[in-house]
Amino acid sequence: RGKRAFIAGIADDNGYGWAIAKSLAAAGAEILVGTWVPALNIFETSLRRGKFDESRVLPDGSLMNITKVYPLDAVYDSLAEVPEDVKANKRYAGASNWTVQEVAESVKHDFGSIDILVHSLANGPEASFCFDYSFLSCFYLHRQVVVMPKRTITCNIAGGASVSLSYIASERIIPGYGGGMSSAKAALESDTKVLAFEAGRRHKIRVNTISAGPLRSRAAKAIGFIDMMIDYSLANAPLQKELLADEVGNAAAFLVSPLASAITGTIIYVDNGLHAMGVGV
Ligand code: NAD
Repeated sequence: RGKRAFIAGIADDNGYGWAIAKSLAAAGAEILVGTWVPALNIFETSLRRGKFDESRVLPDGSLMNITKVYPLDAVYDSLAEVPEDVKANKRYAGASNWTVQEVAESVKHDFGSIDILVHSLANGPEASFCFDYSFLSCFYLHRQVVVMPKRTITCNIAGGASVSLSYIASERIIPGYGGGMSSAKAALESDTKVLAFEAGRRHKIRVNTISAGPLRSRAAKAIGFIDMMIDYSLANAPLQKELLADEVGNAAAFLVSPLASAITGTIIYVDNGLHAMGVGV
């Protein structure tokens, strides 16, 4: 069978998650999606009504197929952690099994296993918190048997692979990218290395992150200065062109493919080279 990918963090067709899903679908992967619970209805309705059809078109002319959309709130690892007021909230009450653990179990129940895990979660405008990145470790380490059973490993020599999205604010000062977001990205990059070791040794799973340049996604618009960051990049990066979400999608597809079979624990910049500049000119 083709590879099966679970992409956490798609609620429209503007973000990096969507672009990664498309690149993976174009390469023949089966696509499963995790969508933030309050955004689930509108995403599924839009999908069903064909609102995304134009951006579902793959290079061969076919439309990307999403096999299943799971409600997900990655803030909570398990049901025991969910406060009563959230359970009772009407934006959550209509959905079930949306904690990380429950989603992993549902995926296991529905499909047995996945080969590729993509973490493309951000704090949306509705959520001013900044959740930690226990998500990957929860999927990989606690739920390892669920996601990457030995069966997958033995029939697929390259093992599984995961990729997440980071931002240069983890290591350089980006004024305004505050509120714990920069430290969350620093933690994500550090976790990428530790998880590369843990998951690599245990299951031959590769773990990498992409440090992406600015994109006008829903999450980025909520932060408030995305246009300025895009203009700054256009003016100062070695490659003075717009950064397309597809370019990040393609890099992600490479990283989780056998072409990257010796790459793990890395942070790859997909930013038109902006990270390499010392001063803007
Ligand atoms: P996006 O809004 O398309 O994606 C973020 C997704 O996370 C949304 O679908 C949102 O609903 C979901 N989400 C938020 N809270 C959640 C929760 N608790 N549980 C489950 N899902 C939740 O925005 P994006 O910019 O494509 O973000 C994807 C990743 O790329 C993020 O990690 C972001 O930090 C990173 N990134 C973005 C940029 C940029 O300029 N857009 C640059 C570098 C890195």
